[in-house]
Amino acid sequence: VKFDSLNLGPALLRAIADKGYEIATPIQADAIPPILEGRDLIGCAQTGTGKTAAFALPTIHRILVALQKERDEAAKANGQPTDQPEAAEAPAEPQDSRRQGNRADRRAGRHQTSRRPQARRKTRALVLAPTRELVSQIAASFAVYGKHTALRHAVIYGGVGQGPQVKALQHGSDVIIATPGRLLDLMNQGHVDLSKIESLILDEADQMLDMGFIPDLKRIISKVPKQRQTLMFSATMPQAIRELAHEWLEFPVSVQT
Ligand code: AMP
Repeated sequence: VKFDSLNLGPALLRAIADKGYEIATPIQADAIPPILEGRDLIGCAQTGTGKTAAFALPTIHRILVALQKERDEAAKANGQPTDQPEAAEAPAEPQDSRRQGNRADRRAGRHQTSRRPQARRKTRALVLAPTRELVSQIAASFAVYGKHTALRHAVIYGGVGQGPQVKALQHGSDVIIATPGRLLDLMNQGHVDLSKIESLILDEADQMLDMGFIPDLKRIISKVPKQRQTLMFSATMPQAIRELAHEWLEFPVSVQT
């Protein structure tokens, strides 16, 4: 299956072409369409199968669509013409929309401090993975596939000072990629807002189970809206993982490599 038949936006297709990929791997071909549709998904896949792109590409696509939809609605509410459709593929920084909004406000003779809400960037996707190495790899993938977009991600893991991570969170990010322990620490300190998460991704779930992260995961997931998309990837599917999938996913599509 070629990538250009998968209904991904041009900014993503450009990033894929920059990487030199043409053909989607089997898990990408199977997982990307249902993820784009908003389905929950459970994937049995090892590292090296292309599973990171299988969840990162459609997740980025859905965030871009959600951002564009919000901008269109805000513009409509302001009586502005809606943006060009291609703006969805390379969303401007929120600053830009703020500037646009102010310009519109000035045109309309409104004061700068109009009632138009300028939402701080909300985190829409949360990726949880067992190790610092995996979190870093996933973050590198989001950077590569999102390079032609203005999306931002924050990377959270233990074993290093939390200062820069807290700063990244305060700056705002569309995606948080984290190990469970440090994320929970930062949540308990009030640095993380998961109330707007639309997409939850659990990578290497079996390893998170083996490393004793399930209690942390349960606490984290209790703060994520129930109305969300959940994707779970695991190299093996022991009974405990099946039960967690049953608890956390709704009518999931199952894909295997
Ligand atoms: P992963 O299984 O996500 O760790 O990916 C394994 C490796 O395959 C990574 O180095 C990717 O950059 C690469 N890769 C992912 N998708 C493709 C693709 N469709 N064609 C060629 N290489 C790919």
